Amino acid sequence: MEPDNRAGIFFDVDSFWMSVADAPVPYPPTLLGVLPRTDLDVLRVCSIFAILRSSTIFTELVPADVFDNFQRDWRRISLMHAVKYSAEGLPVSTPVRHWSRIYLEKLVGSLSGEHPQLSSVKVILGLEHRFYAWSIPSKFEIHISLVMRHYLMTTNIIFSNVVQWAMNLEERLDDGDKEAVAAFVTRGPNAALDKLSDSILGYLFSLFFDCNVSALGAPRPRDERTFRIANRITNLQLEFMIAHELGHIVIPEDGLSAAEIEGRCDDFAREALKDEPEGPGWVLLSISLLFRVMALERLIGHLLYGSISDWRHGVDWDQMAVLERIGSPLSASWVESNAMTAFPSSFESYSMALFERMKYRLKDLGKAGVYSHFSELKEDMSIPDRDDFIKQLMAAMVSLHLEHPELRDMKGE
Ligand SMILES: [Zn+2]
Repeated sequence: MEPDNRAGIFFDVDSFWMSVADAPVPYPPTLLGVLPRTDLDVLRVCSIFAILRSSTIFTELVPADVFDNFQRDWRRISLMHAVKYSAEGLPVSTPVRHWSRIYLEKLVGSLSGEHPQLSSVKVILGLEHRFYAWSIPSKFEIHISLVMRHYLMTTNIIFSNVVQWAMNLEERLDDGDKEAVAAFVTRGPNAALDKLSDSILGYLFSLFFDCNVSALGAPRPRDERTFRIANRITNLQLEFMIAHELGHIVIPEDGLSAAEIEGRCDDFAREALKDEPEGPGWVLLSISLLFRVMALERLIGHLLYGSISDWRHGVDWDQMAVLERIGSPLSASWVESNAMTAFPSSFESYSMALFERMKYRLKDLGKAGVYSHFSELKEDMSIPDRDDFIKQLMAAMVSLHLEHPELRDMKGE
């Protein structure tokens, strides 16, 4: 299974890469007993497959033949593991370490001196198509969907690609042209940028129905640096979300409005992340992107399900209520005392421009355009027919084992 040339291939070891890479490929006869029986099983296999598949990242620098061969094998292996894990449950207990355990342990380690009750908190992972983390403070439980990490990572890879592209372009121009670049990124006609905007919007649209997540493309970062940036931002976003939920567990809610509670939990989470080795610039950038993605997701929900008669003026396109959460007093004082280093700061400006562009894209499409995009996507991402799905699965199993006879000796449990 070793590719001839691994240049440009990266492993997202904070996800479930280890559990797939270290476990033997399930032997076909053992899979026969756990094939999906219902549509719900098929949906679950598709979601787990998308998550496992995305833990190997192929940059655009990977040569086409290596990409084709290695990606095909990796997809088949991930699919077989997905069938197994769908029936048996994901390997989330020890000794497998993955992001939710890593961040929880880290945060509890630094906060439990002041809040000893946090030592009892558990993170419970699900597969819901939702963009939220939530907690049950009385049970010391934090619930997060694995699909959300997958979506964050994906949108961050697309963002990092676009921003790196724009920054490289800017470097080649003189000062007088920089304004033109900014305008270009924001609104100027550009088919490539519209395509990228649509791919992020596609991910966000798909959160509003049960779908086959693996039918959405897996974006390829431009290079190693782009992958590392996206990975760093995703990790800080998830750590912030877990810290926010820990805030719900320790902050007394009596007499506070819902908005005040959210504000205090945001402050608690920012404070918990203040000593991150990446520095405050990266933390602020990651939080800012997180809130903007959440605001965009909320806006899409409003467009699809709100009763709006006046599309242009009746929609809260500015979304100040959500975006105000980015700029709490604590964050303002942070910005003052920790001037953002140049890179996260320019990254943020370009991503703001891209967010605006996506909003304008929705506005330009109008109600009818958004609905037709949405229904096309619903069709493309429908849950596969169970019998067809099983046929494809069997074909993948057989080809993998024929092409890699060495796997025949690895009889899984
Ligand atoms: Zn909250």
